[in-house]
Parts: sequence; C-alpha cells; structure tokens
Amino acid sequence: MTRRPLVAGNWKMNGLRASLAEIEAMGAAYDDALRARADLIVCPPATLMALAGDVAARAGLGLGGQDCHAAPGGAHTGDISAEMLKDAGASYVIVGHSERRSDHGETDGDVRAKAAAALRAGLTPIICVGETRPERDAGDALTVVGAQIDGSLPADAPSHIVIAYEPVWAIGTGLTPTVDDVAAMHAFARERIEARLGRGKSAEVRILYGGSVKPSNARELLRVANVDGALVGGASLTAKDFIGVASAYR
Ligand code: PEP
Repeated sequence: MTRRPLVAGNWKMNGLRASLAEIEAMGAAYDDALRARADLIVCPPATLMALAGDVAARAGLGLGGQDCHAAPGGAHTGDISAEMLKDAGASYVIVGHSERRSDHGETDGDVRAKAAAALRAGLTPIICVGETRPERDAGDALTVVGAQIDGSLPADAPSHIVIAYEPVWAIGTGLTPTVDDVAAMHAFARERIEARLGRGKSAEVRILYGGSVKPSNARELLRVANVDGALVGGASLTAKDFIGVASAYR
C-alpha cells in the first residue's frame, strides 16, 4: 500500500497579507521532483483564507482551515463552518488540534462532530491526537491516544481522512520523541484505526507526525514506518523552512 505523503503547514494565529508572499515562494520552490513525491498544503488564519486560496491555487499548493464549527451555518458568532472554508478554496481542515482542545475545551465528541462536518462539506479532516508530558511520563501515551482515536473519528469515516499524531509536549518546544517512540505510536495508531474503520481503510489513512518538525530533523522523522507526512507549525511560516521540511521526500 503506497500512501502519498502530505506535508501540512499550520500557521496558527500568525500571518498578515504580506505573508502571502511566502506561499508564492513555496510554490516556486515546490518543483516537479517534489510534486511527484508529496502533497503540500498550507493552513493560514481565517482572515487570509480567501486570498490565500487564490495564491495557493496558482502556486499548486493545497489550502486548509485550522478549525471549523460542526454546523453548516447559523448563530455562532466568530465561528466558521466547513462549507465556508470550502467556499474559500480549502480542501482540508485541521480539527482537534491540542491548542483547540486546551484553549477551547474541545472534547473528542466535539472533534468527531467537526470531522463529520468537514466530510459533509467535501473537506478532508486532519484529526489531531496526542498525549501530554505527564501522560507520557505515567506510561499512558498509548491509552490516551487510543481513546482519542476512538472518540474523534466518525464511525463511517472514509479512508481519505488524515490523522496527525502530535505529542502536546513536542509542539513548539523543540523537543521530539525518539524515532522508536514515533514508530511505536504510529504502528499503534494504525491498528486502532483498523479496529474502528477496518483493515482496507486503515491501510490507506495517512498518519502525520507533528511536533517541532524542522528541516534538520525531518528526514529522520519522516522515514519512520507509518509516518505518512508531517503537520508543521513554526517551520511552516517561511517558504525556506517549509520546503526544507518537505524536501525530506526528494
Ligand atoms: C502544530 O502546532 O501543529 C505544530 C506541530 O507546531 P510546531 O511544529 O511549531 O511544533
């Protein structure tokens, strides 16, 4: 089973109109050799979605949102629906990022509803899971991530959904798990997805690693078995670093 790698950039609450030049530069550096090997998408803040959609389309990159509401529309001040993201040019949306889970109290049930909303709108959800440092230190990492997968995946999800394993303690800290720990978690996640969706679908689901991926460690992390790409935060803000990460697939 060959799964086409995906490298997704999560800009979080960063980026002004001037930052769109970085997407143009990403497109220029995303040469044929790299295009043949990996999909690249950028997930800018909501304010830039429509403009970034046009720039990303010209640059040959995909576009993703960072979150969506479960409802298609209505009285939800400040929220954005999956349908709105689709209309702005998105084909992906991140759901259940640990910063959403911690800052906004999102539960697995909320994440599952958002993932279902993404599918309803014709978007691919990137469903984030990952343990905290105390949970890993207590030996509970697999249990926690297994429960998040069980609770966050819609029951009848198709195989084009994406899972992102992001240990919370590795996000934005410069710390990463060992390659053995990444391999163990991704193999476990694959089994858990199989238990939920069946073997055929599970073999096709892309499982990304996220947490302090940068050009200097991307090759080591992205060649681990069952790692089908990366969700990249800080290193996705500039074309130089983002293409540096993706270049692990050259
Ligand atoms: C993220 O927020 O999804 C992330 C992986 O961030 P960073 O790469 O900065 O650790």
